[in-house]
Amino acid sequence: MGVAITLQQVSRTYGSAKALHEVSLEFPAGGTTALMGHSGAGKSTLLQLIGGMDLPDSGEIRVDGQALPRRGLDGHRRRIGFVFQRFHLLPALSAVDNVLAPVLPYRVSFDRKARARELLAAVGLADRERVLPSELSGGQQQRVAIARALIGRPPLLLADEPTGALDSGTGREIVDLLLRLRDQYGMTMIIATHNPELAATCDRLIRLADGRVVGDDAILPAADVLDRIGRLG
Ligand code: ADP
Repeated sequence: MGVAITLQQVSRTYGSAKALHEVSLEFPAGGTTALMGHSGAGKSTLLQLIGGMDLPDSGEIRVDGQALPRRGLDGHRRRIGFVFQRFHLLPALSAVDNVLAPVLPYRVSFDRKARARELLAAVGLADRERVLPSELSGGQQQRVAIARALIGRPPLLLADEPTGALDSGTGREIVDLLLRLRDQYGMTMIIATHNPELAATCDRLIRLADGRVVGDDAILPAADVLDRIGRLG
């Protein structure tokens, strides 16, 4: 199951730029949240802090109630899957080797290769195990990157503009895939995006502007909205 994330008064400044200013938020376990806001609003900074790739200047981040330490974040990072806009696959490695690369340095209790193959099948690339990233389309490369993000069965998936480098049809396929995998593996998901269609498929939309939260709304599934309108009528 997913983990719950809590931010209390989290701030991060780069030089004179206040990337985040006293942000307090709760992400319940298993929720899917879209982060929107103009470029420079602080979305990536928020994801990097939650992912333990950067440290706040002040404030606290809790995972299932446990405050993240300022040192020794390796264990936390290993429990997170990260998907980027530009895939970041290793060009000299085959698709299956890219998927298992994150767990290569670690002793693990599962068969790495078998799991990598299983995940490639789950993202619809069972027949492309041996190919190099350069032989794959953008959408296929993002599928490999998503499989790679899931190799450690993370309870938290962070995605920074996962459809930003893709055309709208391919982007839609990636959104469908992410939602299907969330249902299958039950993780908490936080997705920074400029794509309103992607945001609408999440169950919550947080808007950031200049490092502050300026909107935080539940998104009702269309069926629920129609049901409510029906009952009102
Ligand atoms: P977004 O993801 O919404 O585009 P970012 O979190 O990348 O926003 O950036 C928020 C602010 O912090 C911007 O003003 C950006 O220029 C600044 N910033 C982010 N990362 C760095 C960094 N590594 N060094 C200096 N400034 C940064």
